[in-house]
Amino acid sequence: MALANGVIYLDHAATTPMRTEVLARMEPYFSEFFGNPSSIYTLGRKSLDALDSAHETVARALNCRPTEIVFTGGGSEADNLAIKGIAYAQRKRGDHIITTAIEHHAVLHTCQRLEQEGYRVTYLPVDVFGRVDPAQVEAAITDQTSLVTIMYANNEVGTIQPIAEIGRICRARRVPFHTDAVQAGGLLDLDAASLQVDLLTLSAHKFYGPKGVGILYVRQGTRVQPQVLGGSQERNRRAGTENVPGVVGAAAALELARDERERENERLQELRDQLIAGMLTLPDAQLTGHPTQRLPNSASFTLAGVEGESLLLNLDLVGIAASSGSACTSGDIEPSHVLSAMGVAASQARGALRLTLGRSVSADDINVTLERMAEILPRLRSLSTQPA
Ligand SMILES: *Cc1c(COP(=O)(O)O)cnc(C)c1O
Repeated sequence: MALANGVIYLDHAATTPMRTEVLARMEPYFSEFFGNPSSIYTLGRKSLDALDSAHETVARALNCRPTEIVFTGGGSEADNLAIKGIAYAQRKRGDHIITTAIEHHAVLHTCQRLEQEGYRVTYLPVDVFGRVDPAQVEAAITDQTSLVTIMYANNEVGTIQPIAEIGRICRARRVPFHTDAVQAGGLLDLDAASLQVDLLTLSAHKFYGPKGVGILYVRQGTRVQPQVLGGSQERNRRAGTENVPGVVGAAAALELARDERERENERLQELRDQLIAGMLTLPDAQLTGHPTQRLPNSASFTLAGVEGESLLLNLDLVGIAASSGSACTSGDIEPSHVLSAMGVAASQARGALRLTLGRSVSADDINVTLERMAEILPRLRSLSTQPA
């Protein structure tokens, strides 16, 4: 089916196209109902109502209270607010943070900044499939630990972590637990109570909502120090006039995703498995990430003897948008920190490929993709100086 412009878009982990239903819900709040939610006249209250209603919609999806939801300017900002907010608020209790080696840079770079400020950070290892061992989380907790932050699902290889199990451990030890659930947003269970999380990050543009809108769940009673200072918006947790159209869109997109999740996940998983099976018939292709505990839309590989970037450019030439998985900019030869942590050799990691499916992708698109791969890969290998 592809996109309207004919492109086969296989990079839904990077971003997703905004749904037209979501855009329609946002539209009135740009110029018709443009009031500031803090203004007391009718026009302002109209915006405040929309904002309140967005909190309620998101709270329903997360099985939490509307007051436990903070809207931010994106997933990265929500991760920063969770991690710095807890670390600074809990400094007296302890200066030790536990995370993993495979987090998104929004988490890793924030933890590194805190290390520069004197905090101690434990970066837990993962197994060859990218899974964290909950027993290792438990063993790493000390009475100085003020935060555990572990992602729900990995953006490069799609591996899902045992979040509820880790949550249970953290709660028993009374350590606040944050999860970056950005990749899980439209796809996995987000019940904050059953996951036993204290903080959870989402980003609207990863589930067909607008870019620049993040959601942070903060469990009642969890103190976070605000990182953007100013007015008293979002119950004093994030200053600044609210992005009313944005949060309306985020809430609408989350609600649509949850209504359609069961059926759509089944469809995606079937396509994903078809794609993985097809890719693994190609010479020197290996699956990265967990064989079963992975996102229903995510297929990732290493292709020995192929330069990942050349493959992406060649796929682009035939109208297929894909990714190497890592956010490193072109020309960067550093291997992915995620694949390194999983024990993938640097030479192998150079041929990393991530294909993430979504609403526009059909079975036909998968077949076309596999056909193009079978044409492109031998050509690249014959050009490559890398040993296969
Ligand atoms: C995309 C992403 C982020 C960042 O979200 P933005 O809204 O783009 O800032 C954080 N964590 C993960 C796992 C992501 O995939």
